[in-house]
Amino acid sequence: MESKKNKKPPPHVKPGIIKSGRFSKEEQYIAEQESKLIKEHSKRLQEAKEKEDTERLKEAKQKAKELHYMKCPKCGMDLKETIFMEIMVDICEECHGMWLDKGEVEELMFKEADLFTKLCCKLGIKKKKSKKK
Ligand SMILES: [Zn+2]
Repeated sequence: MESKKNKKPPPHVKPGIIKSGRFSKEEQYIAEQESKLIKEHSKRLQEAKEKEDTERLKEAKQKAKELHYMKCPKCGMDLKETIFMEIMVDICEECHGMWLDKGEVEELMFKEADLFTKLCCKLGIKKKKSKKK
């Protein structure tokens, strides 16, 4: 009995699922090629989506930077660069909060350490046991 039904498997059918004998070799080949094309397209689509997400993330970061640059993280007002203990720091003109960039905390700590030592000497506070000295 001959059937006019299309024996071609749907393109999403994995090549391994196709049983030999049920479809001709040509049909199997076509199905495998279509499956490969779909996989490639899906991969490209995913890559495009990821690329777009990366672009959007980049844009969002840029916008955030533009909106927040030199603004106080506490009250949102403008920050003014000011020299404090010979270090350039950002001070809020509204709430007077002081904000430090990377490395400035270490610089201040280094300078403050001397100040604390002098203060401790004046107050008669002795250092606890330390291997260093
Ligand atoms: Zn502020």
